[in-house]
Amino acid sequence: MSISAAQPSEPDPESAAGSGPESAGGSGPASAAGSGPASVSVIDRLVGANHRYAVAFHDPGMDARPVLGVAVVACMDARLDLHAALGLDLGDCHTIRNAGGVVTDDTIRSLTISQRALGTRSVILIHHTNCGLETITEDFRTELEHEVGQRPTWSVEAFTDIDQDVRQSMARVRTSPFLAYTDDVRGFVFDVHTGLMREITAK
Ligand SMILES: [Zn+2]
Repeated sequence: MSISAAQPSEPDPESAAGSGPESAGGSGPASAAGSGPASVSVIDRLVGANHRYAVAFHDPGMDARPVLGVAVVACMDARLDLHAALGLDLGDCHTIRNAGGVVTDDTIRSLTISQRALGTRSVILIHHTNCGLETITEDFRTELEHEVGQRPTWSVEAFTDIDQDVRQSMARVRTSPFLAYTDDVRGFVFDVHTGLMREITAK
């Protein structure tokens, strides 16, 4: 079982990260500097979309401080459209995403800046059903070490009980010494098939 084959059910960047440069854009190194229309890379496509976006863009003159004073911590899963699912508009929230939506030291770093420098007061944590982190284990790190000769310093943060994982994430936020506001912290599981969120309460 190779590392890249261990997470076939979640076709998002976390699987691309371990699969080598030949998979970037799906078009191979030969096309990276090429200009043929048949080999438009995915990033070229995104840049083109940005040009069209900018043509119609009007500066809303927003402040960097989120309007609703809320930070959303969620999985990076491609099926999770946070703004649509939560009725959020541009400028409403901070969005902090990673594999699993877990609360790591770097998540705490972002939340600390979000609260202390940019005025947010509430934290909503969103995990989801069919998460890629349910399909791997901490053995992922050992496999990586065997493959590349170096053991990552980070934890995979894999889990089997999603409710418990949300509880752990809430606890990490609530007990962080760096955060100034830990009263309004709530966690949910988003169902990728129904679009509904289920709240997880502390045990
Ligand atoms: Zn996920």
